[in-house]
Amino acid sequence: MASEYPQCAKCGIDHDERACRVPGGKAPAFCPTVGMVPAVERALAKYRDPEIREFARQASIQEAEGYMHRDVKPLVRHPVKPRLQEICEFAQRMGYRRLGVAYCSGLFSEGAALGKVLEKHGFEVVSVVCKAGCIPKEEIGIGEEEKIRIGEFESMCSPIAQAEILNEAGTELNVVMGLCVGHDSLFFQHSKAPVTVFAVKDRVLGHNPLAALYTIGSYYERLVKT
Ligand code: SF4
Repeated sequence: MASEYPQCAKCGIDHDERACRVPGGKAPAFCPTVGMVPAVERALAKYRDPEIREFARQASIQEAEGYMHRDVKPLVRHPVKPRLQEICEFAQRMGYRRLGVAYCSGLFSEGAALGKVLEKHGFEVVSVVCKAGCIPKEEIGIGEEEKIRIGEFESMCSPIAQAEILNEAGTELNVVMGLCVGHDSLFFQHSKAPVTVFAVKDRVLGHNPLAALYTIGSYYERLVKT
């Protein structure tokens, strides 16, 4: 373990001189590239598994192909692909046929639209809503005062059921559409297939949580400068 916990988010080294970007580059005291070599090597050993290696290789190719004019120097990054296209292309690269969509009932239309687009691209789509199973919230110890509609029956969100159903359907890649904070974590933990996220839940900001960070400087200037 390094003398300090990694703090990449606080790295003050110039982007192109960082130890994680150029061999022999500069590193602050909390740098994991320099201070946590065993962890990096353990990760490398995992990439030697042929299946993981191929997954990582295709993801890396997909990443690069998200930009155009890559042969022009100096490189000016010109992104060209929305995430929807990237997910379709990545699944095709991997040769997947059957995809899962784990969606939130609050994003029913979006889940339906995503399913249609994936089908148009030739995939077999298995979609499961978060309420699948219709299990009462009391099952996980939720009291009346902790429900959204106090005093009424509420079906719990069961991301574990979503994962189990998709596992049983044999999906090869699962796409998350707007699952809530924590529910998404459970889905990630219990899905057998690899998971990618199409969208995350943000009830206030149009499911774009980054908006909170993009505007934070206007009311909390000191926070973004440190
Ligand atoms: S890995 Fe090291 S050099 Fe790279 S951002 Fe983190 S602290 Fe900075």
